[in-house]
Amino acid sequence: MPKGPGNSKYVKKINRMTVLNLIKQHEVVSRQELAELTGLTPPAITGIIRELMEIGLVKEVGLAKSRGGRRPVKLKFNPEAGYVLGIEVTRFETSVCVADLMNVPAQINKIDLDMTEPETGIPLLINTIKQILDQGTRERKNFLGIGVAFPGLLSVKEGKVKRSINLGLKWKGYRVKKAFESNWNLPVFVENNSNASALAERWFGGAVSYRDLVYINLGEGISAGIIMDDRILHGFQGHAGEIGHIVMVENGPLCNCGNRGCLESMYGVPALLRKVNSELPLIKKDDPLKEAWQTKGKIGIEDVEKCACVEGSYAHELLRQMARHVGLAIADVVNLYNPEAVFLGGKMAKAMGFFMDVIKDTVLTHAFPEIASSTIIELSTLGEKSGVIGACALALKELFKPTSDIVDYIQSNTFQKRR
Ligand SMILES: [Zn+2]
Repeated sequence: MPKGPGNSKYVKKINRMTVLNLIKQHEVVSRQELAELTGLTPPAITGIIRELMEIGLVKEVGLAKSRGGRRPVKLKFNPEAGYVLGIEVTRFETSVCVADLMNVPAQINKIDLDMTEPETGIPLLINTIKQILDQGTRERKNFLGIGVAFPGLLSVKEGKVKRSINLGLKWKGYRVKKAFESNWNLPVFVENNSNASALAERWFGGAVSYRDLVYINLGEGISAGIIMDDRILHGFQGHAGEIGHIVMVENGPLCNCGNRGCLESMYGVPALLRKVNSELPLIKKDDPLKEAWQTKGKIGIEDVEKCACVEGSYAHELLRQMARHVGLAIADVVNLYNPEAVFLGGKMAKAMGFFMDVIKDTVLTHAFPEIASSTIIELSTLGEKSGVIGACALALKELFKPTSDIVDYIQSNTFQKRR
Protein backbone atom coordinates (compact mmCIF):
# COMPACT_ATOMS: atom_id res chain seq x y z
CA MET A 1 0.00 0.00 0.00
CA PRO A 2 1.44 3.43 -0.88
CA LYS A 3 2.42 5.52 2.16
CA GLY A 4 2.18 8.94 0.56
CA PRO A 5 -0.69 11.28 -0.26
CA GLY A 6 -3.59 9.51 -1.99
CA ASN A 7 -3.64 6.73 0.56
CA SER A 8 -6.81 7.11 2.65
CA LYS A 9 -5.05 6.15 5.90
CA TYR A 10 -2.46 8.86 5.26
CA VAL A 11 -5.14 11.45 4.50
CA LYS A 12 -6.98 10.44 7.67
CA LYS A 13 -3.79 10.90 9.70
CA ILE A 14 -3.15 14.37 8.26
CA ASN A 15 -6.78 15.43 8.89
CA ARG A 16 -6.63 14.18 12.45
CA MET A 17 -3.39 16.03 13.18
CA THR A 18 -4.78 19.22 11.57
CA VAL A 19 -7.83 19.09 13.85
CA LEU A 20 -5.70 18.25 16.91
CA ASN A 21 -3.29 21.12 16.28
CA LEU A 22 -6.16 23.57 15.73
CA ILE A 23 -7.67 22.59 19.07
CA LYS A 24 -4.22 22.93 20.65
CA GLN A 25 -3.83 26.45 19.21
CA HIS A 26 -7.23 27.63 20.46
CA GLU A 27 -8.19 28.25 24.05
CA VAL A 28 -11.54 26.57 23.25
CA VAL A 29 -13.16 25.72 19.93
CA SER A 30 -16.38 24.01 18.80
CA ARG A 31 -16.89 21.16 16.32
CA GLN A 32 -18.74 23.59 14.06
CA GLU A 33 -15.83 26.04 14.08
CA LEU A 34 -13.39 23.19 13.35
CA ALA A 35 -15.49 22.18 10.33
CA GLU A 36 -15.38 25.77 9.08
CA LEU A 37 -11.62 26.09 9.71
CA THR A 38 -10.66 22.82 8.04
CA GLY A 39 -13.29 22.40 5.34
CA LEU A 40 -13.96 18.87 6.64
CA THR A 41 -17.56 17.64 6.89
CA PRO A 42 -19.30 17.75 10.30
CA PRO A 43 -19.48 13.90 10.45
CA ALA A 44 -15.72 13.69 9.74
CA ILE A 45 -15.03 16.20 12.54
CA THR A 46 -17.31 14.28 14.91
CA GLY A 47 -15.43 11.05 14.18
CA ILE A 48 -12.01 12.62 14.73
CA ILE A 49 -13.10 14.31 17.98
CA ARG A 50 -14.49 11.00 19.27
CA GLU A 51 -11.10 9.37 18.69
CA LEU A 52 -9.18 12.25 20.30
CA MET A 53 -11.51 12.24 23.33
CA GLU A 54 -11.17 8.47 23.77
CA ILE A 55 -7.42 8.81 24.28
CA GLY A 56 -7.75 11.88 26.49
CA LEU A 57 -6.08 14.42 24.17
CA VAL A 58 -9.25 16.52 23.91
CA LYS A 59 -12.03 17.17 26.42
CA GLU A 60 -15.40 18.89 26.44
CA VAL A 61 -15.59 21.92 28.72
CA GLY A 62 -19.16 23.24 28.69
CA LEU A 63 -21.26 25.14 26.18
CA ALA A 64 -20.39 28.18 24.09
CA LYS A 65 -22.75 31.07 23.24
CA SER A 66 -25.33 30.25 20.61
CA ARG A 67 -24.88 31.66 17.10
CA GLY A 68 -28.52 30.79 16.40
CA GLY A 69 -29.72 27.29 17.17
CA ARG A 70 -28.24 24.88 19.71
CA ARG A 71 -25.35 26.07 21.89
CA PRO A 72 -22.18 24.37 20.63
CA VAL A 73 -20.00 22.28 22.95
CA LYS A 74 -16.61 23.82 23.72
CA LEU A 75 -13.59 21.58 23.11
CA LYS A 76 -10.22 22.01 24.77
CA PHE A 77 -6.81 20.39 24.36
CA ASN A 78 -5.72 18.38 27.41
CA PRO A 79 -1.99 19.03 27.96
CA GLU A 80 -1.82 16.37 30.66
CA ALA A 81 -2.73 13.51 28.33
CA GLY A 82 0.98 12.79 28.09
CA TYR A 83 4.46 14.04 28.91
CA VAL A 84 7.79 14.55 27.24
CA LEU A 85 11.25 14.26 28.66
CA GLY A 86 13.87 16.88 27.77
CA ILE A 87 17.58 16.37 28.39
CA GLU A 88 20.33 18.96 27.94
CA VAL A 89 23.79 17.44 28.08
CA THR A 90 26.77 19.58 29.07
CA ARG A 91 30.21 18.50 30.18
CA PHE A 92 29.67 18.50 33.96
CA GLU A 93 25.99 19.20 34.51
CA THR A 94 23.09 17.63 32.65
CA SER A 95 19.57 19.04 33.03
CA VAL A 96 16.47 16.90 32.80
CA CYS A 97 12.95 18.25 32.44
CA VAL A 98 9.54 16.59 32.47
CA ALA A 99 6.98 18.74 30.69
CA ASP A 100 3.35 18.38 29.70
CA LEU A 101 2.13 18.59 26.10
CA MET A 102 2.03 22.42 26.22
CA ASN A 103 5.64 22.39 27.47
CA VAL A 104 4.83 23.51 30.99
CA PRO A 105 7.70 22.03 33.01
CA ALA A 106 6.56 19.89 35.91
CA GLN A 107 10.09 19.48 37.25
CA ILE A 108 13.65 20.26 36.25
CA ASN A 109 16.51 18.29 37.78
CA LYS A 110 20.21 19.00 37.51
CA ILE A 111 22.58 16.06 37.50
CA ASP A 112 26.28 16.55 38.28
CA LEU A 113 27.94 14.10 35.98
CA ASP A 114 31.20 14.04 34.05
CA MET A 115 30.17 13.49 30.44
CA THR A 116 33.66 13.47 28.95
CA GLU A 117 33.33 9.78 28.05
CA PRO A 118 30.07 8.54 26.51
CA GLU A 119 30.65 4.88 27.37
CA THR A 120 30.55 5.63 31.10
CA GLY A 121 28.57 8.90 31.08
CA ILE A 122 25.49 7.76 29.14
CA PRO A 123 24.69 4.62 31.22
CA LEU A 124 25.12 6.65 34.44
CA LEU A 125 22.92 9.40 33.06
CA ILE A 126 20.20 6.96 31.97
CA ASN A 127 20.19 5.28 35.40
CA THR A 128 19.93 8.62 37.19
CA ILE A 129 17.06 9.73 34.95
CA LYS A 130 15.25 6.44 35.61
CA GLN A 131 15.58 7.04 39.36
CA ILE A 132 14.21 10.58 38.97
CA LEU A 133 11.24 9.30 36.95
CA ASP A 134 10.57 6.48 39.42
CA GLN A 135 10.36 9.03 42.23
CA GLY A 136 7.92 11.16 40.23
CA THR A 137 4.17 10.65 40.09
CA ARG A 138 3.88 10.30 36.32
CA GLU A 139 3.40 6.84 34.89
CA ARG A 140 6.04 5.62 32.46
CA LYS A 141 3.44 4.72 29.83
CA ASN A 142 2.30 8.35 29.61
CA PHE A 143 5.67 9.52 28.29
CA LEU A 144 5.45 10.09 24.56
CA GLY A 145 8.91 11.20 23.48
CA ILE A 146 12.37 12.40 24.43
CA GLY A 147 14.23 15.48 23.19
CA VAL A 148 17.98 15.78 23.63
CA ALA A 149 19.87 19.08 23.36
CA PHE A 150 23.49 18.27 22.70
CA PRO A 151 26.57 20.48 22.34
CA GLY A 152 28.49 19.96 19.13
CA LEU A 153 28.28 19.07 15.47
CA LEU A 154 25.56 16.47 14.92
CA SER A 155 23.93 14.47 12.25
CA VAL A 156 20.42 15.39 13.40
CA LYS A 157 18.66 12.71 11.33
CA GLU A 158 20.77 9.87 12.70
CA GLY A 159 21.14 11.46 16.14
CA LYS A 160 24.85 10.89 15.85
CA VAL A 161 27.72 13.08 17.07
CA LYS A 162 30.23 14.19 14.46
CA ARG A 163 32.39 16.19 16.86
CA SER A 164 31.85 17.76 20.24
CA ILE A 165 34.55 20.26 21.07
CA ASN A 166 33.08 20.85 24.53
CA LEU A 167 32.53 17.25 25.60
CA GLY A 168 35.68 15.79 24.07
CA LEU A 169 37.10 13.57 21.34
CA LYS A 170 35.56 10.34 22.65
CA TRP A 171 32.11 11.39 21.42
CA LYS A 172 33.05 11.24 17.75
CA GLY A 173 30.60 8.91 15.98
CA TYR A 174 28.54 8.20 19.15
CA ARG A 175 24.86 7.47 18.46
CA VAL A 176 23.00 9.50 21.11
CA LYS A 177 19.55 8.76 19.64
CA LYS A 178 20.13 5.00 19.61
CA ALA A 179 21.47 4.96 23.18
CA PHE A 180 18.33 6.60 24.56
CA GLU A 181 15.90 4.78 22.26
CA SER A 182 17.15 1.36 23.26
CA ASN A 183 16.53 2.19 26.92
CA TRP A 184 13.08 3.72 26.72
CA ASN A 185 11.44 2.45 23.57
CA LEU A 186 10.23 5.98 22.86
CA PRO A 187 10.91 8.26 19.89
CA VAL A 188 14.07 10.28 20.55
CA PHE A 189 14.91 13.54 18.80
CA VAL A 190 18.40 15.05 19.01
CA GLU A 191 19.33 18.64 18.19
CA ASN A 192 22.27 20.98 18.75
CA ASN A 193 21.81 22.74 22.10
CA SER A 194 21.79 26.27 20.69
CA ASN A 195 19.19 25.33 18.08
CA ALA A 196 17.07 23.79 20.84
CA SER A 197 17.44 26.98 22.90
CA ALA A 198 16.40 29.10 19.91
CA LEU A 199 13.32 26.91 19.57
CA ALA A 200 12.51 27.35 23.27
CA GLU A 201 12.85 31.12 22.93
CA ARG A 202 10.65 31.13 19.82
CA TRP A 203 7.82 29.09 21.30
CA PHE A 204 7.96 29.63 25.02
CA GLY A 205 10.25 32.59 25.70
CA GLY A 206 10.65 36.18 24.54
CA ALA A 207 10.34 35.47 20.80
CA VAL A 208 6.76 34.21 20.57
CA SER A 209 5.98 36.96 18.07
CA TYR A 210 9.23 36.73 16.05
CA ARG A 211 9.77 34.43 13.07
CA ASP A 212 13.39 35.46 12.49
CA LEU A 213 15.68 35.32 15.49
CA VAL A 214 19.13 34.33 16.64
CA TYR A 215 19.86 32.80 20.02
CA ILE A 216 23.48 33.05 21.18
CA ASN A 217 24.69 30.69 23.87
CA LEU A 218 27.49 32.23 25.94
CA GLY A 219 28.60 29.35 28.11
CA GLU A 220 31.33 26.73 28.18
CA GLY A 221 31.20 27.05 24.43
CA ILE A 222 29.79 29.86 22.29
CA SER A 223 27.37 29.06 19.48
CA ALA A 224 24.18 30.31 17.88
CA GLY A 225 20.81 28.85 17.01
CA ILE A 226 19.33 30.63 14.01
CA ILE A 227 15.61 30.59 13.20
CA MET A 228 14.71 32.10 9.85
CA ASP A 229 11.12 32.25 8.58
CA ASP A 230 10.16 30.15 11.60
CA ARG A 231 12.50 27.25 10.79
CA ILE A 232 15.80 26.25 12.33
CA LEU A 233 18.54 27.13 9.87
CA HIS A 234 20.63 23.98 9.70
CA GLY A 235 22.73 24.66 6.61
CA PHE A 236 23.93 22.01 4.13
CA GLN A 237 25.36 19.61 6.71
CA GLY A 238 23.38 20.82 9.70
CA HIS A 239 26.17 22.82 11.30
CA ALA A 240 25.14 26.45 10.78
CA GLY A 241 25.55 28.85 13.69
CA GLU A 242 29.13 28.27 14.88
CA ILE A 243 29.49 31.91 15.88
CA GLY A 244 31.99 31.01 18.62
CA HIS A 245 34.54 30.26 15.95
CA ILE A 246 34.50 33.65 14.27
CA VAL A 247 38.14 34.73 14.44
CA MET A 248 38.48 37.84 16.59
CA VAL A 249 42.27 38.05 16.86
CA GLU A 250 44.55 36.60 14.23
CA ASN A 251 47.07 34.31 15.95
CA GLY A 252 45.14 34.69 19.22
CA PRO A 253 44.74 31.91 21.83
CA LEU A 254 44.56 28.33 20.54
CA CYS A 255 40.94 27.16 20.26
CA ASN A 256 39.63 23.63 20.87
CA CYS A 257 38.55 23.62 17.22
CA GLY A 258 42.22 23.78 16.15
CA ASN A 259 42.10 27.38 14.96
CA ARG A 260 43.46 30.44 16.79
CA GLY A 261 41.80 33.56 18.16
CA CYS A 262 38.17 32.36 17.95
CA LEU A 263 35.58 34.16 20.10
CA GLU A 264 35.19 30.95 22.15
CA SER A 265 38.95 30.60 22.67
CA MET A 266 38.84 33.98 24.44
CA TYR A 267 35.45 34.14 26.12
CA GLY A 268 34.10 30.64 26.61
CA VAL A 269 33.92 29.99 30.38
CA PRO A 270 37.06 27.76 30.46
CA ALA A 271 38.99 30.35 28.42
CA LEU A 272 37.95 33.18 30.75
CA LEU A 273 39.05 31.17 33.80
CA ARG A 274 42.34 30.23 32.14
CA LYS A 275 43.08 33.88 31.45
CA VAL A 276 42.08 35.03 34.93
CA ASN A 277 44.20 32.37 36.63
CA SER A 278 47.25 33.09 34.51
CA GLU A 279 46.96 36.85 35.15
CA LEU A 280 46.15 36.68 38.88
CA PRO A 281 49.75 37.35 39.98
CA LEU A 282 49.69 40.58 37.97
CA ILE A 283 46.38 41.89 39.35
CA LYS A 284 46.52 44.75 41.87
CA LYS A 285 46.46 43.73 45.54
CA ASP A 286 43.26 45.63 46.35
CA ASP A 287 41.35 44.31 43.32
CA PRO A 288 38.19 42.47 44.50
CA LEU A 289 39.08 39.42 42.42
CA LYS A 290 42.50 39.15 44.06
CA GLU A 291 40.86 39.47 47.47
CA ALA A 292 38.38 36.71 46.57
CA TRP A 293 41.26 34.52 45.48
CA GLN A 294 43.17 35.13 48.68
CA THR A 295 40.10 34.25 50.78
CA LYS A 296 38.96 31.18 48.85
CA GLY A 297 42.20 29.91 47.35
CA LYS A 298 40.64 29.61 43.90
CA ILE A 299 38.55 31.59 41.45
CA GLY A 300 35.29 30.42 39.88
CA ILE A 301 33.34 32.10 37.08
CA GLU A 302 30.79 33.32 39.67
CA ASP A 303 33.61 35.30 41.37
CA VAL A 304 34.46 36.97 38.06
CA GLU A 305 30.79 37.86 37.54
CA LYS A 306 30.40 39.23 41.06
CA CYS A 307 33.58 41.32 40.92
CA ALA A 308 32.66 42.72 37.50
CA CYS A 309 30.10 44.98 39.24
CA VAL A 310 33.00 47.03 40.66
CA GLU A 311 33.87 49.61 38.04
CA GLY A 312 37.55 49.79 37.14
CA SER A 313 38.27 46.34 38.55
CA TYR A 314 40.07 43.62 36.59
CA ALA A 315 36.88 41.56 36.17
CA HIS A 316 34.93 44.64 35.06
CA GLU A 317 37.46 45.39 32.33
CA LEU A 318 37.65 41.74 31.24
CA LEU A 319 33.88 41.40 30.83
CA ARG A 320 33.66 44.84 29.18
CA GLN A 321 36.14 43.60 26.63
CA MET A 322 34.11 40.41 26.23
CA ALA A 323 30.98 42.52 25.64
CA ARG A 324 32.82 44.45 22.89
CA HIS A 325 33.88 41.25 21.14
CA VAL A 326 30.42 39.69 21.54
CA GLY A 327 29.04 42.92 20.04
CA LEU A 328 31.38 42.57 17.04
CA ALA A 329 30.19 38.99 16.48
CA ILE A 330 26.55 40.09 16.75
CA ALA A 331 27.23 42.87 14.22
CA ASP A 332 28.27 40.16 11.74
CA VAL A 333 25.21 38.07 12.58
CA VAL A 334 22.93 41.10 12.13
CA ASN A 335 24.49 41.96 8.75
CA LEU A 336 24.33 38.35 7.55
CA TYR A 337 20.87 37.28 8.71
CA ASN A 338 18.92 40.46 9.47
CA PRO A 339 17.09 38.89 12.42
CA GLU A 340 14.26 40.65 14.18
CA ALA A 341 15.81 39.84 17.54
CA VAL A 342 19.01 38.47 19.06
CA PHE A 343 18.76 36.72 22.43
CA LEU A 344 21.74 36.15 24.69
CA GLY A 345 21.64 33.05 26.86
CA GLY A 346 23.92 30.63 28.67
CA LYS A 347 26.03 30.94 31.80
CA MET A 348 27.58 34.33 30.91
CA ALA A 349 24.37 35.99 29.68
CA LYS A 350 23.49 37.57 33.02
CA ALA A 351 26.96 39.10 33.32
CA MET A 352 26.67 40.41 29.74
CA GLY A 353 23.41 42.05 30.82
CA PHE A 354 25.49 44.53 32.87
CA PHE A 355 27.32 45.49 29.67
CA MET A 356 24.33 45.56 27.33
CA ASP A 357 25.03 49.21 26.42
CA VAL A 358 28.55 48.23 25.29
CA ILE A 359 27.16 45.36 23.19
CA LYS A 360 24.45 47.52 21.60
CA ASP A 361 26.85 50.43 20.88
CA THR A 362 29.31 48.02 19.23
CA VAL A 363 26.57 46.50 17.06
CA LEU A 364 25.31 49.95 16.04
CA THR A 365 28.84 51.05 15.14
CA HIS A 366 29.81 47.97 13.14
CA ALA A 367 26.62 46.71 11.48
CA PHE A 368 24.58 48.54 8.83
CA PRO A 369 22.69 51.17 10.83
CA GLU A 370 19.50 50.50 8.84
CA ILE A 371 19.58 46.88 9.98
CA ALA A 372 21.12 47.29 13.43
CA SER A 373 18.79 50.05 14.59
CA SER A 374 15.76 47.82 14.11
CA THR A 375 17.26 44.68 15.66
CA ILE A 376 16.21 43.93 19.22
CA ILE A 377 19.05 42.63 21.41
CA GLU A 378 18.11 41.27 24.80
CA LEU A 379 18.76 38.57 27.36
CA SER A 380 17.06 35.22 26.99
CA THR A 381 13.89 35.17 29.06
CA LEU A 382 14.41 31.50 29.90
CA GLY A 383 17.94 31.93 31.26
CA GLU A 384 19.86 28.73 31.91
CA LYS A 385 16.70 26.66 31.42
CA SER A 386 16.48 27.43 27.70
CA GLY A 387 18.43 24.33 26.57
CA VAL A 388 16.36 21.84 28.50
CA ILE A 389 13.04 23.59 27.73
CA GLY A 390 14.21 23.56 24.11
CA ALA A 391 14.82 19.81 24.32
CA CYS A 392 11.18 19.35 25.38
CA ALA A 393 10.07 21.79 22.66
CA LEU A 394 11.96 19.73 20.09
CA ALA A 395 10.14 16.54 21.11
CA LEU A 396 6.78 18.33 21.03
CA LYS A 397 7.52 19.88 17.63
CA GLU A 398 8.14 16.40 16.19
CA LEU A 399 5.27 14.69 18.02
CA PHE A 400 2.74 17.26 16.78
CA LYS A 401 3.98 17.67 13.21
CA PRO A 402 1.32 17.04 10.50
CA THR A 403 2.54 13.51 9.70
CA SER A 404 2.98 12.44 13.33
CA ASP A 405 1.80 9.03 14.59
CA ILE A 406 1.13 10.34 18.09
CA VAL A 407 -2.59 9.44 18.01
CA ASP A 408 -1.93 5.85 16.86
CA TYR A 409 0.78 5.56 19.50
CA ILE A 410 -1.48 6.66 22.37
CA GLN A 411 -4.31 4.50 20.99
CA SER A 412 -2.13 1.40 21.08
CA ASN A 413 -1.00 2.21 24.64
CA THR A 414 -4.60 2.83 25.77
CA PHE A 415 -5.66 -0.45 24.16
CA GLN A 416 -2.90 -2.38 25.95
CA LYS A 417 -3.91 -0.77 29.25
CA ARG A 418 -7.54 -1.90 28.86
CA ARG A 419 -6.66 -5.45 27.84
ZN1 LIG B 1 37.50 27.82 17.34
